[in-house]
Amino acid sequence: MLNKRFIAGAVCPRCAEMDRLVTFEEGGDTFKECVSCGYQEKQIANVQLSELDTRVNHGEKISDAVEPVKMMLDVTPKKDS
Ligand SMILES: [Zn+2]
Repeated sequence: MLNKRFIAGAVCPRCAEMDRLVTFEEGGDTFKECVSCGYQEKQIANVQLSELDTRVNHGEKISDAVEPVKMMLDVTPKKDS
């Protein structure tokens, strides 16, 4: 009884396909699997670290996420004053 869930935005380290990685638990361990190429990786019980790894792999996405925040910071003081 495997409950596989897709990892949004995750990129397969082997075939570089996005949104092809699923995560599932088996025997108390957590695994990642690529449904595109069959890549499989055992996770060392640290989901937060793996999420950080995913973000680091998307260097472009970090700058995309920063820009809207800057815009919001610029707008907020104007509303206050
Ligand atoms: Zn793959």
